[in-house]
This record gives sequence, structure tokens and C-alpha cells, in this order.
Amino acid sequence: MSSILERIVTYILGGLLGTAIGVLTNSFKLPIFEGEGMSVIIVAVTTILGLLASIIIIEAKSQAVLKHNNAIRDETVALITHEMRTALTSTGWAIDMVLKKYSQNLTPDDAELLKDANGSIKQTVMHSVNLLDISMLDIGKLHISLQWTTLDKVEQMFHEVMEKYNLGATKNGIKLVGDIKLDHDRKAEVDMMRLRIVLENLIENAFQYIGTGKKEIDVTISNDNKNMKIVVKDSGIGIPAKEKDKIFSEFYRASNARKALGSGSGIGLYTCCKYIKAHRGTLAFESKEGEGTTFFATVPLNTVADVDGFLKKI
Ligand code: ADP
Repeated sequence: MSSILERIVTYILGGLLGTAIGVLTNSFKLPIFEGEGMSVIIVAVTTILGLLASIIIIEAKSQAVLKHNNAIRDETVALITHEMRTALTSTGWAIDMVLKKYSQNLTPDDAELLKDANGSIKQTVMHSVNLLDISMLDIGKLHISLQWTTLDKVEQMFHEVMEKYNLGATKNGIKLVGDIKLDHDRKAEVDMMRLRIVLENLIENAFQYIGTGKKEIDVTISNDNKNMKIVVKDSGIGIPAKEKDKIFSEFYRASNARKALGSGSGIGLYTCCKYIKAHRGTLAFESKEGEGTTFFATVPLNTVADVDGFLKKI
């Protein structure tokens, strides 16, 4: 940002330069500028143009500085988050190794403690991946690592996630129902950690916006011939019709959600949408205010034969 002094000096210089150009133009006594009061008008017009030019220059300079500072901030956040994630991942591996190598010597309580610590580390790694992706999105450098995965791996991830949220559901009087029907021999190109972030985000939102009514959440994953489909349905506060088209925008929170829950970032769905698009899938929802919301995410599938064919081509 330009300092006030710098702004004032630039405006004065711009004005003076404009006045000088006006006086100089008058000194040529050009026939087209002849006439009563013309010299005053010319000086006035060139002075105003000089002032306008100085305003434009100052604004352009401020924008350039702001853009540069934002880029430095985003790169720094990305770098720190990356370092954090690497450190956490190695700590997680170290705990895993201790658990495997010394399992005989550990008391059940100690083993449980280490498992909990590892669970928290994995969760923090996921959050840092998400944080890193958000800053990468800002600088247009989101990279996700898609790998051909059989759907039984998705099923395994689904059970882990459901287990994680079951306890919270019971505590909060929420009926959480999970149902998974996947053809295990099918494959999809998936970044499992990001897909898990999407699933967890949709379930967490369903928890957050469940309201005070009947409190039911259904999570279903299934597939047809073309797609794997994740559906998270809740009986919560819903999304106001007028605000539906803004729900995937960065930082957007619907008015009823802000009222129901003071905290929230409006960044979760925005990132989920980018993740699913990177899987060449779709993310959509249906909702009625006061009745509930259903989110649908799809990820395209290939049969094993198709995948092999695809892999031969690259
Ligand atoms: P946050 O939950 O932190 O506000 P999100 O990006 O996850 O941010 O969601 C954006 C907005 O979408 C929420 O603020 C809320 O208005 C709306 N929303 C998302 N999921 C639901 C849901 N299951 N029920 C009602 N509103 C929802």
C-alpha cells in the first residue's frame, strides 16, 4: 500500500504536470484552441487529466503490491504446512514401528495410548493436507495424486470414517446410518486421502447443521456401471432456496447456518468441490429449508479391463 505522503506527492506532481502541459499547449497558440477563455479551459482540462493519471498510477501500484504480498503469504503458508505434514507423517510412521516391533512388551493401556496418538497424528496430517491444498488453490497449484484403486479400499475407508463418527452421533442423539454396496472388482482413479476429506466434510456438515428436529443422517456409497456415488442425507436445517447457488463459493455461509452456528469457515464445500472435480466427478445437492439436505458426489469408474486398456495407452 502506498503511504499517504507518497499519494499526495504523486497527485501534486500529476496535477502540476497536467498544468504545465496546458500552459505549453497554449504557448503554441494553435488556431483550433483560439477563442475567449480557451486557454483557461485547456489548463483546467490538462490539470484534471494529470490528476486522474496520477490516481490511476497509484491504484495500479497498490494492487500490484497487494498481489505480490498475497502471493508471498500463500507460498509461505504452503511451505510451512508442507514441512508440518512431513514431520507429522514421520512421527506417525515411528509410532507405527514402535507398535509393531514392541507390541509384546507394551501393556494394553500403553498400546491403546500409542494408537490414540497415532490416530490424532493421522487426523492432523489430513487437516494439514487440506490446509495446504487451500493455499495451493489460491495460487492455482493444487496437485492431487490419483491412483487406480479397487473399490474394496473405498469400503475400508468408509468403515473407518463411520466408526469415527458413531460415538459422536450417539452422544448427540443423532441416528447415523451407513450403507455401502460396492462392486469390489471395479476400480476408480482415486486420491483416497482427499476422498476421505470429502466424505468427512459432508458428514461433519450434516452433524453441524442437524438442527433440533428428528436428527437423522444417512450415508450411502454405491456404484452403477459408470460411477461411484456418495450420498450424505440429513434431516437438518436445510439451505435457503435463495442462497443455493452461492453454497460452493469460497467463504460463503448461508444466513440460517450463520444463525445456527457462529463458527464456520465456508471453505469446506469449496475445497470438496475442487477435489471431486479433480477426480473428474460431480458434487451437487438437494435441500429444503427446515427439512434437510442431501449431498451427492460422483466419481467415474472403470472396469478392470478398461483400466488395463487405459494403462497400456500411457
Ligand atoms: P462451514 O460449514 O464451515 O460454514 P462449508 O464450506 O462446509 O463451511 O459449508 C458452506 C455452507 O454450506 C455452510 O455454512 C452452510 O450454510 C451450508 N451447508 C453445508 N452443508 C450443509 C448441510 N448439511 N445442511 C445445511 N447447510 C449446509
